[in-house]
Amino acid sequence: MGKAPEEEHPVKAFGWAARDTSGVLSPFKFSRRVTGDEDVRFKILYCGICHSDLHSLKNEWGNSTYPLLPGHEVVGVVTEVGSKVQKYKVGDRVGVGCMVGACHTCENCENNLENYCPKMILTYNSVNYDGTKTYGGYSDHMVANERYIVRIPDNLPLDAAAPLLCAGITTYSPLRYYGLDKPGTKVGVVGLGGLGHVAVKFAKAFGAIVTIISTSPSKKQEAIEVLGADSFIVSTNPDEMQAAMGTLDGIIDTVSAVHALVPLLFLLKSHGKIIMVGAPDKPLELPVFPLIIGRKTIAGSCIGGMKETQEMIDFAGKHNISPLIEVIPMDYVNTAIERLIKADVKYRFVLDVGNTLKAA
Ligand code: NAP
Ligand code: ZN
Ligand code: ZN
Repeated sequence: MGKAPEEEHPVKAFGWAARDTSGVLSPFKFSRRVTGDEDVRFKILYCGICHSDLHSLKNEWGNSTYPLLPGHEVVGVVTEVGSKVQKYKVGDRVGVGCMVGACHTCENCENNLENYCPKMILTYNSVNYDGTKTYGGYSDHMVANERYIVRIPDNLPLDAAAPLLCAGITTYSPLRYYGLDKPGTKVGVVGLGGLGHVAVKFAKAFGAIVTIISTSPSKKQEAIEVLGADSFIVSTNPDEMQAAMGTLDGIIDTVSAVHALVPLLFLLKSHGKIIMVGAPDKPLELPVFPLIIGRKTIAGSCIGGMKETQEMIDFAGKHNISPLIEVIPMDYVNTAIERLIKADVKYRFVLDVGNTLKAA
């Protein structure tokens, strides 16, 4: 008979978890596995709060299991490595993003697209191969196979680097894959939140001409002056939407809630494309005529593979791309989630886990 999961997982850990669909987080004790031969263990210093954490905490996608301990923008410093680990050593600055496992034999895995593996194991709200639950980065430490560990470039501050591990790769990957990374390309970004503001930074670094489409007029000045967007459209203003019709080659849509697609399709040039990365819990309405007229495409994209995630963060290091963040203490997390619901954050909350998480 095999050992009980708690015997296999004798390393004590603690963090903040939700116990039910209220999504309210409170201190939580659990355990993680011992460091395996190919594992890297690290002390968590910072963890970003992604809107997917909010969807999951409140079971908006219908797949949450409790206790649910979120966090998939996790960074820190290596404390232990397994005997077969090649790339990392104690003291290295590293991170973990949205996944911690995959089958490593399917076509997607063989093509470094673990993110599309049918057996992908998410960093939280998922099940490890040994049958135990995965718990995320709102916690004191993390252990993962080295394939899922990302090295943080030396010049990036650790707190601001955290959001790159989800918001960064989720926007970098579709900009690249769908050819929106060419100088002069006219790129629209819908929703100026965690993902959206990083999308603007990457698109600008690729040399694109960037238009933000937002519901928040209050974000305009900073979007232009600080983020470097070329223009800013308030989506509820029909005159501004009308004036921008037929101007964009592609749009990255990061909106977390149900919203109208047709006005966005009208912003595209012929043959233009909308890439959905936002993940509303309910279906969007899609009349086909606006697609047929002008041969337009609507597509999707899910995070990115590990090879591309390292490439993305190295690119961010080279181009000094740092998300704009509000660093908060652990016991502010429930207030932060409430503010995230109201889109009241510029542009990503990052938990100061290292300094403020107290033992449960
Ligand atoms: P976020 O920081 O909350 O940003 C979302 C932005 O969408 C808001 O700041 C707001 O921008 C806009 N928005 C919100 N409600 C809206 C509404 N009802 N109508 C129109 N616009 C609205 O969220 P995030 O962390 O960037 O995540 C965005 C979405 O991407 C979430 O659904 C998340 O689960 C999903 N996601 C997907 C992937 C993937 O792999 N595909 C990865 C990570 C996250 P304005 O104020 O500018 O309008
Ligand atoms: Zn995320
Ligand atoms: Zn696979």
